[in-house]
Amino acid sequence: MIRFEEMRAILAGRNAFYSERLRSGVDFAELPFTTKQELVDDQAEHPPFGTNLTYPVEKYIRIHQTSGTAGKPILWLDTKESWDWWLACWEQVFKGAGVREADRVYVAFSFGPFIGFWAAFEAAQRLGAMVIPGGGQSTEQRLRALFDREATVLVCTPTYALRLADAARQHGFDLSRGPIRITVHAGEPGASIPETRRRIQESFGAKTFDHAGMTEMGAYGFECEAQSGLHINEDEFIAEIIDPETLAPAREGDKGELVLTNLGRIGMPLIRYRTGDLGVMSRQPCPCGRLWARLVGGVVGRVDDMITIRGINVFPSAIENIVRRHPQILEFAIEVHRQREMRELRLKVEVEGSSDGIIARLGREIHDDLRVRATIEVVETGSLPRFELKARRLRVLD
Ligand SMILES: [Zn+2]
Repeated sequence: MIRFEEMRAILAGRNAFYSERLRSGVDFAELPFTTKQELVDDQAEHPPFGTNLTYPVEKYIRIHQTSGTAGKPILWLDTKESWDWWLACWEQVFKGAGVREADRVYVAFSFGPFIGFWAAFEAAQRLGAMVIPGGGQSTEQRLRALFDREATVLVCTPTYALRLADAARQHGFDLSRGPIRITVHAGEPGASIPETRRRIQESFGAKTFDHAGMTEMGAYGFECEAQSGLHINEDEFIAEIIDPETLAPAREGDKGELVLTNLGRIGMPLIRYRTGDLGVMSRQPCPCGRLWARLVGGVVGRVDDMITIRGINVFPSAIENIVRRHPQILEFAIEVHRQREMRELRLKVEVEGSSDGIIARLGREIHDDLRVRATIEVVETGSLPRFELKARRLRVLD
């Protein structure tokens, strides 16, 4: 808590957003939670950047924004110091995955206002690896670049890795014999979903690592080589798990919402921020020797992504884990419909080749594993949206 108290002293009287909040509790555990809605409201009331600024605007060197999945994006500013802190957190992600100086890191990402891959790019450079920018290229050009430049590490969303794998099959590249030895993923929980991970690993003949971060928070989670969950970088973040209903601390081993405080982003910090990420935290020792807490199985879902069908809670990640067992399914979408006060789950799938038996098999597996019934619909190839950044495969139609 020493670093937190140091930060608190800097913020007091300087940061308008947090000055008042920090007065409301002596102990850390008494301080109020910060919610995403409060950040959205603050920027709406005080455009364009809101009041969570510790320094005059001139001190800030970078601006990024959230994906705005649920409404208007939030703008986030970094000073030179806080950007360096971001990169140090990402370096931890690479080190956990075993990326070394001799590696060549291909970042399959068009460099827009989303923060994640900018930080990955610069952090790889800081580590001493060679970085290969993959923006402004078609999927086929990216595949060629991976081979021609002999890239050993691929950084992209899990969805995009699978898209590269599909394109490789179409264009006759054998990725599993290609140079990539490590893939590092961000933006979606996919790399912690066992079947998605398996497909990426097999397609690339590589070891696949998950990472978790948020534009407004930082790169807080990474996998070590033991791959026994997502480590939380507790040197730089204070992690808590709460019951999202009662807001009380969750018991060890219970699933809850991750609440984080970052300690090195003083220019625009977050204290006790409700991330919306759900997970189970473990403090059991990890074979890698790190003492940091782990989210077992990664981020299992988002608080606002939970689907309740006839009293049973289902997460899109659990459905994805079933869909990915079937390599002939190219893309999918989950729809929740309300029918006479009852909610109905519909799964749309694009199938390569014959779809014989797939409807019955998927329906049975979803029922057996998740205890809900789903209507499966095979749709025309290419009719579902494709994603380069965060995939949005869930639609709730009320
Ligand atoms: Zn570990």
